[in-house]
Order: sequence, then structure tokens, then C-alpha cells
Amino acid sequence: MNSEEHRRLRELLGAFALGQLTETEHTAVQAHLDGCATCRAELATIEPLADALELVDPARLDRLPAAPPYWLEESVLAAVRAEPRRIHPWRRRLVTAAAVLVIGAAGTGLGYALAPDPPKIPLEPVQVTTVAAGVRSTAQVVPHTWGMEIKLAGTGFVAGQRYHVTVVGVDGRIAAAGEFIGTGTKPMLCNLNSSVLRAEAQSFEVRDETDQVVLRGQV
Ligand SMILES: [Zn+2]
Repeated sequence: MNSEEHRRLRELLGAFALGQLTETEHTAVQAHLDGCATCRAELATIEPLADALELVDPARLDRLPAAPPYWLEESVLAAVRAEPRRIHPWRRRLVTAAAVLVIGAAGTGLGYALAPDPPKIPLEPVQVTTVAAGVRSTAQVVPHTWGMEIKLAGTGFVAGQRYHVTVVGVDGRIAAAGEFIGTGTKPMLCNLNSSVLRAEAQSFEVRDETDQVVLRGQV
């Protein structure tokens, strides 16, 4: 693999997880992820952070006015004149909102800042076969004492459609591993848990609302 490409695309993983890349960049990163286990593992560590950032509702931030009303501006100025060190709570709220936006834009930078030592999760890449057109996906599994976790990343799952995931055991047992909602072209990162132990798991399947298999993972 081209290490220059690896270095360049690795820096885009944060923005990738947040769905902030251009179509071209997104395609390049997705293609690179298919062949680079290091980047896939790194993406998995960024994922919880990206999820947390997505909980911040941009619509709420948008409702904050761009500038305070003139009368508030005046009262703030008056307060500042009277007591230079005092910051009006309203101002602080704006600054906080701006900081959240900056953090969102920072993407990977924040990922590194908060997690300089990526947790040593025993991620195991698995072979994913997509059946449905337009779906691109990679997956890793994590063995746990209580079962197996599937970290599923992908695009092309129909937006708004519900998908369910099952794990098939070597003994043929089928266990539910959870559900998710498709996000269309926006990258999706999803953790799915099943009660089948890693050693006893044979494969997993993602099915759509009509129970058609969308993809299979050989574990
Ligand atoms: Zn890479």
C-alpha cells in the first residue's frame, strides 16, 4: 500500500466519520479503508466520538441569532464597562456554540486530542459480502465474555429504512444482534451486540425490512 496515501487519507478519517467529506474524498477514503486494516481500526476508535458529536443538534445552534439584539448588546457593553471581568451568560452561550462548531469541523484533530492512546480493542476485520446494490460496507468484530460485538461501517443503506442484524452460530443458532436505520450516502458507523460468543459465531447477516439479505459477514 502507498504509505503517502495512507498518511493523507488517515487525516480525513475524523471528517469521514462525521460525514463531512466531499463525494470525491469520501470515495477515496472508503476505497482506502477496504484495503487498510490500520485505518479501519482507527476509524473504529473515532466512531464513539463522532456519535457523541452527532448528538449535538445543529438545528438548535442555528436558532441562536448571529448577533445579540441591540438592547442586549448595549446592556452587555454597560456591564463590561462597569465590571470588565464579567462575561454575560448569553455571550458565554454563543462562545460555547461556536466552540462546538469548531470542534465539529476539527474532526480528526479532536479525535487525536481526546484519545492520544487508542484503546487496545481486539478488533478483528471480517470478510463482508454485500448483496444489495449501492451498499458499501466494512466490519470488524470484538470478542467479549458476554458475546460478540460487530462494528459495522458503511454507506448506501437506504435512508430511513430499518435494517436488522442477526448472528449465525456454528451450531446453526440464530441470535439477534440489533437494528439500525439506513443513512443513505452519509457514512454509518454502528455497534451491534449479540449473545453468540466469538468462538461460536460463524457469520452475521444484515436484512432489510422485507427480510432480504443486504450483506453477509464471515467471521
Ligand atoms: Zn491506511
